[in-house]
Amino acid sequence: MNKRFARGEFALIDDFLTGLGSTRSDVVTDIGDDCAITRIPAGFELAFSIDTLVSGVHFFSDCDPVSLGHKSLAVGLSDLAATGAIPAWATLALTLPKPDQIWLQGFSAGLHRLAKTHGLRLVGGDLTQGPLCISIQVMGMIEAGQAILRNGAKPGDAIFVSGTVGDAGLALRQLLTLKSSDILSSSVPAFLLGRLEQPTPRIELGRALRGLASSAIDISDGLLADLGHLLKQSQCGASIELGQLPLSKPVASATLRCDDWMLPLGSGDDYELLFTVPPHQIQTLLSRVALIDCHVTHIGNMTVGNDVQLIQPNGELWNQSNQLAESCGFEHFRTAEIH
Ligand code: ADP
Ligand code: MG
Repeated sequence: MNKRFARGEFALIDDFLTGLGSTRSDVVTDIGDDCAITRIPAGFELAFSIDTLVSGVHFFSDCDPVSLGHKSLAVGLSDLAATGAIPAWATLALTLPKPDQIWLQGFSAGLHRLAKTHGLRLVGGDLTQGPLCISIQVMGMIEAGQAILRNGAKPGDAIFVSGTVGDAGLALRQLLTLKSSDILSSSVPAFLLGRLEQPTPRIELGRALRGLASSAIDISDGLLADLGHLLKQSQCGASIELGQLPLSKPVASATLRCDDWMLPLGSGDDYELLFTVPPHQIQTLLSRVALIDCHVTHIGNMTVGNDVQLIQPNGELWNQSNQLAESCGFEHFRTAEIH
């Protein structure tokens, strides 16, 4: 075994990573053994997803550790939400440059708070020394056969999005501007910074969509890019009314001031759900959603074909929508040189 932190590794696990999240009766073996062991009830399937956040790629190296603890878990929970699953357990592979206890305290507090909100338990992981990098595998349960997938949408289905889009993108834009001019990051409005650094996984909405939504995806790479994944899997096109996009005040003013639809369409990290519903289910959807703390907006419809039409508020098509759908959204390796 590699003694990466000498004696420090196990003390850090004991002090900062053990006991995070909710206590669960289905955890047979918690942190401290070679494997975590959990029970899954009859009639449920296991849904799991892993995400990695790399310093300098997914977050600034001086990012608040509490927020980072939150976000590292939130991105995985958002995948469970899109599937309609109930969060249950997670494992954490953490690579740290140094055993910084203040940082670990903040990180584990952020992770613990969000995990408790969703009844999830951190049941294991790995701790290594190296450039700051966080991988979390989330695991959840879904009633057998009820997972919401990307491939079920049909032409004519209504396209909905939760919350507002473009907030995290605007926060990132402002942070980059402030950092390049050496102004303190605290000047980014708290609402926008919160949307970037502490996104809200839409677990309750995902649960409400079971049996209703024909397809769903969470928006991590940008609305158009993620819509593109859904269209490809469902073999449909889409028509989107740009004037219907749900925008917060700051994003609406930035978008409308410059006629810059790329902000709400192309920026990622909002972790809202994009989903489709057959027209006869719209009323049921709205009455279910009225019971939970999350807004949804009808932004367009699925169409026959495979192209995306973006309709401006004046009724004209926004040109080059197809090239746009292909070129926007974040994608690793896209611009990397291959040697
Ligand atoms: P092994 O060497 O058998 O893989 P480790 O010695 O690395 O196990 O870890 C000891 C225990 O601590 C294991 O139960 C493991 O799941 C847990 N653990 C290690 N790192 C983390 C972490 N970053 N977060 C949560 N649990 C961790
Ligand atoms: Mg072992």
